[in-house]
Amino acid sequence: MPQPHSSQTSALQILSQTFGYDHFRGQQAQIIETAVQGKNALVLMPTGGGKSVCYQIPALLRAGITIVVSPLIALMKDQVDTLRELGIRAAYLNSSLSMSEQRDVESALQQGNLDLLYVAPERLLSEHFLNRLDQTQLALFAIDEAHCVSQWGHDFRPEYQQLGLLATRYPHIPRMALTATADKRTRADIIQVLSLQNAPVFLSSFDRPNIRYSIVEKDNGRKQLIDFIQQQPEGSAGIVYCLSRKRVEETAEFLQSKNLPALAYHAGLPQAERIRVQDEFLLEEGRIVCATVAFGMGIDKPNVRFVAHLDLPKSLEGYYQETGRAGRDGLPSEAWMAYGLGDVVSVRRMLAMSDAPPEVKRIEAGKLDALLAYCETASCRRQILLTYFGEMGSLPCGNCDICQNPPSTWNATVAAQKVLSAAIRTGNRFGAAHLVDVLLGSETDKVKQFGHHELPTFGIGQDLSEATWRNVIRQLVALGYLLPDLEGFGGLMSSEKARDLLKGKETLWLRELPAVKVKTSRQDRT
Ligand code: ADP
Ligand code: ZN
Repeated sequence: MPQPHSSQTSALQILSQTFGYDHFRGQQAQIIETAVQGKNALVLMPTGGGKSVCYQIPALLRAGITIVVSPLIALMKDQVDTLRELGIRAAYLNSSLSMSEQRDVESALQQGNLDLLYVAPERLLSEHFLNRLDQTQLALFAIDEAHCVSQWGHDFRPEYQQLGLLATRYPHIPRMALTATADKRTRADIIQVLSLQNAPVFLSSFDRPNIRYSIVEKDNGRKQLIDFIQQQPEGSAGIVYCLSRKRVEETAEFLQSKNLPALAYHAGLPQAERIRVQDEFLLEEGRIVCATVAFGMGIDKPNVRFVAHLDLPKSLEGYYQETGRAGRDGLPSEAWMAYGLGDVVSVRRMLAMSDAPPEVKRIEAGKLDALLAYCETASCRRQILLTYFGEMGSLPCGNCDICQNPPSTWNATVAAQKVLSAAIRTGNRFGAAHLVDVLLGSETDKVKQFGHHELPTFGIGQDLSEATWRNVIRQLVALGYLLPDLEGFGGLMSSEKARDLLKGKETLWLRELPAVKVKTSRQDRT
C-alpha cells in the first residue's frame, strides 16, 4: 500500500486544501487515521457533526476506490456534485441513471479513475457488481446510515442486513460504519451485522447544551403555543411540528391570524410551494414553519431559535433529530413540547391496533415506553436523552424545565385505585372524560344512560379536581396501568400490570400537577 506521508499531516492538508477547513472537529482526525491504517471503525456522530469527511479523506489517502453505501438515492447526486466541485473523482450508481451512464461509471471503476463511488445497498449486493469489485482495487467500504441494519431502528432496510458479506468476501478491506442513531440496541446490531466486534467505537457527544428542553401539559395546545412563541425574542425563527397535514395547515392559519409570520409545509403540497416555503424560511428572518416531519431533512439553517412539538413525536430518536435543528449556531434555543392525555391514548392505541409481527411490536412498545418516560420524567430531561443515546454519567443540566422547576411527587396509590376500579366497574370500555365524570359524580346524560350513577365508584373522587384526575389518568396510561381498548373509540381498560396496585401490593408515586393551572372549558381541550 502506498503510504508515503505521515497520514495525520496529509489528512490535515487535504482538509484544508481540498475542503477548505483549517482544523478537524471532534474525533474526525482519529477516525480518519484508523481508516487510513486499514482498520475498521464504528462512527456515531449527531447529524451535522461532520461524518462525510471521515471517509472522504481516507478515500483520497488510500490507494484504490472507496465504496460508499447509502440508502439515500435522492441525495447521492448532490453529494457527488459537491465532491466533483472540490475536484474529487466521485460518481454514483443507482436506478436514476440511464444504461449508458451506468456503463460509463462502471468503466471508470474498472480503469481505476474514481476515488469514491456511492451505491445503494441493493446495487452493491448484486452479483454483477460484486464481480466487478472483485477485480477492483478497494480502499474502504463506508456504510453510511448504518442504523438501517437494525430492526430496532426506525429506518430498517432488509438489504442492509446482507452487508455482512462485505466482511467475509473482502476481509482485508476496512469497513467504516457511520450513523447518527446511537442507542445501545442499534449499536449492538450494527456491530453484529457488519462484524465490527474488534473495531473502535467513536462516539461523539450527542449533548446540545444550548438547547433548553421543556414540556408542558397540553390543555389548549394552540393557545399554549402562542404563549410560548410570544415569550421568545421578537423575530425568532422556529419550526412547529404537527402530526398530520391538516393540523399543519390549521396551525399555520391560526398563527397567521395572530399576526405571526407562519408558513405551512408538508409532503402533500406541490413541490414549487414546498421549495418556496423552504427558501423563505432560509432567506427571510423570523419565519415560523408549521410542518410534518417531512420538513427538515437537509435544511441547514443555523439560527433556528425554537422547535415546538404540538403533537407527540414518533420516537425519542425522531424527537432528538427534530429538536436538533434548533440552535446550530450554538446560541440559546428552545425545544418545547405540549403533551397531553389525548396524545398518550392515541399512541398507545396505535400500537395496540398495529398488525405488525409480534417481534416488531415488542420493539415499538419499548420505544414508546422510552418516549413516554421522557415526557413523564421527574428528573433532568437532558440526562434521560443522553442516557438513551448511550452517554452515561452526565449530571443534571440545570437548564431544562425539570431542573429549573422540579415537580413534586405524591402518593397516588388510592387515586389510581379509584380510577382503575371506575374503569373496571364501567366495563373497561369508556374514555377518560366519562371516567372523570363518574369519579366526580357528574350526572351527565351518558352516566345516566348507562346507569353509572348507581355504581359504588360514582362520586368517590370528589376530593380531587377534574384537572388532577385527567393528569392521573394520563400518567396511568403512560405507565401502562390503563390501556386503550382495541375498538379505537378511546375506551380505557385496566391492564394486567394494574393488578398488584389494585390489591394494594404496590405503592404508586405520580408527578403532581403544576401548581399554576389555566382553567379551560371542555371544548378547548385537545
Ligand atoms: P453529517 O453527515 O454528520 O450530518 P456532514 O458531513 O454533512 O455531517 O457535515 C456537516 C457540515 O459540517 C458540512 O457543511 C461540512 O462541510 C462541515 N464540516 C465537516 N467537518 C468540518 C470541519 N472539520 N470544520 C468545519 N466544517 C466541517
Ligand atoms: Zn435538566
